[in-house]
Amino acid sequence: MSYQHLLVAVDLTEECDPVIKRAMKLAEPTQATVSLVHIVEPMAMAFGGDVPMDLSQLQQQQFDQAKERMDRLYAKYPSIKRGDSHLKYGQPRQEIHQLAKEQACDLIVVGSHGRHGLALLLGSTANDVLHGAPCDVLAVRLQTKE
Ligand code: AMP
Repeated sequence: MSYQHLLVAVDLTEECDPVIKRAMKLAEPTQATVSLVHIVEPMAMAFGGDVPMDLSQLQQQQFDQAKERMDRLYAKYPSIKRGDSHLKYGQPRQEIHQLAKEQACDLIVVGSHGRHGLALLLGSTANDVLHGAPCDVLAVRLQTKE
């Protein structure tokens, strides 16, 4: 069985290149669609939810910066169409699952650091996305910097 629509979750760091490249290689033989998704997480969430200041301006800057980085990815990977890319606001697992359902994706591709020790206890986005995913999930192993 070949995949028809791959959804690649990108964190917009240089580490997303191997993840995108792996997805494109997989999609090549059947000319499957490759879509990108990046989730901008609410800043208040990072601070534990209750922040006694207005973060809206900072949040907008974060969103604009993510948009710029997404634009750089379109330029770098011209076979990925702008219409196939998504910039969302929210919690990565929830938004990625919802988008995969909406877009009828049959494979979600994420990067995985193969964490161990304490970092493993803290969990990872790849692990989070795997649980309850509406389709198959491919975790592309990323090199961990020592
Ligand atoms: P992490 O567990 O945060 O180191 O991220 C591992 C992988 O999860 C990344 O390579 C991406 O595939 C995905 N990921 C992490 N953060 C995001 C995000 N904000 N939006 C979309 N995908 C993400």
